[in-house]
Amino acid sequence: MSPNSNFLRCIKCEKEYSSDEVRYRCDCGGLLEVRYDSLRATKKDFTGSGVWRYKKLLPVDCRVTLNEGDTGLYRCENLEKGFGVKLWVKNEGDNPTGSFKDRGMTVGVSKAIQLGLDKVACASTGNTSASLSAYCAKSNMKTFVFIPSGKIAYGKLAQAMVHGARIYSIKGNFDLALEMVNDFCAKHGVYWLNSINPFRLEGQKTIAYEVIEQLSFKPPDYIVLPVGNAGNISAVWKGLVEFRDLGLLDEPPKLIGIQAEGAAPIVNAIRDGHFSPVENPSTAATAIRIGNPVNAEKAIRAIRESGGSAETVTDEEILKAQRVLAQKEGLFVEPASAASVAGLLKCIESGKIEEGSRVICITTGHGLKDPDIVVERFKGEMVEIEKRELEILAQEI
Ligand SMILES: *Cc1c(COP(=O)(O)O)cnc(C)c1O
Ligand SMILES: [Zn+2]
Repeated sequence: MSPNSNFLRCIKCEKEYSSDEVRYRCDCGGLLEVRYDSLRATKKDFTGSGVWRYKKLLPVDCRVTLNEGDTGLYRCENLEKGFGVKLWVKNEGDNPTGSFKDRGMTVGVSKAIQLGLDKVACASTGNTSASLSAYCAKSNMKTFVFIPSGKIAYGKLAQAMVHGARIYSIKGNFDLALEMVNDFCAKHGVYWLNSINPFRLEGQKTIAYEVIEQLSFKPPDYIVLPVGNAGNISAVWKGLVEFRDLGLLDEPPKLIGIQAEGAAPIVNAIRDGHFSPVENPSTAATAIRIGNPVNAEKAIRAIRESGGSAETVTDEEILKAQRVLAQKEGLFVEPASAASVAGLLKCIESGKIEEGSRVICITTGHGLKDPDIVVERFKGEMVEIEKRELEILAQEI
């Protein structure tokens, strides 16, 4: 038996299934998670780099990699000034296709290969399709992506296109695209790699491992991150709990999930005590424009168990945070990612995050994925000049 031998378990009724079976939900409808017969690792086992540095804690062998993970943890001494907290940004835009999705895809696509499958699909607000397409190109698999028409940033769409994915544009929002890809995969024997797939989340949990290692096992008080389909926050919590159970961490940080005001079903659920989807989600942060997050149950548990909370931010706050991060720290992140920084500022203001706290904001994707929103804002400030006008500039300096 390999040390990583694993199975799937329902988070609701705890029914177990073999990981050799292609399955995304329990018969009871509950979400599944990957469990291990025995999870063992010490600090010395973490060798090599990136996601696969943690191979002793992962459910498959590496069958395809683009050197994902090992993203920078940036101290933000300029930005934190005056706020009374110590801030780091974990910049997932450093990944090969520019978002944390790559951590999930290296594991998820490796799982597909192990299962002997050669066709995969996803619904996507952009980054999932960009990442899946790249990993499938590398492993010679056929990729089908379903995107909500007109609601996707062009940088991301360009990635899926150039890597050769078959792209279906859906007249409807992400939630409808997700429903359609579910049917599509079931009917045609295609492997489904949205974050309902628990193997993808196993890759994404390495964000937590990395953060803790980068801080020399001295954990922060809070991890703040944007929440869309709610897989990532669930994965980060799973990683933290595993490190705790391995004795590598005493007290895991509290998780704070940030959503856009117009797409905040998880924030509502934490506040009201029950979940209901948001009918017509809207926000400029397209990566988190999701009304019915498939991993809601996992995410709500994660936030509660961690002792954390959830908060909304407006589009205006998001775009402002994006500029502040770019102008004070030299980090250009996409709007959904900036939601974490906007949320941090709001939580400091409301006292949800206390003075003196050590905080990590996870910025989930690279700013170049969605340049339009920035160019739109700043193009009016650009000055057109001719050579002979160079003299006039002297007055500006
Ligand atoms: C996918 C994505 C999110 C949302 O992550 P979930 O796991 O769906 O909650 C946030 N930001 C970016 C940039 C993303 O690509
Ligand atoms: Zn069940």
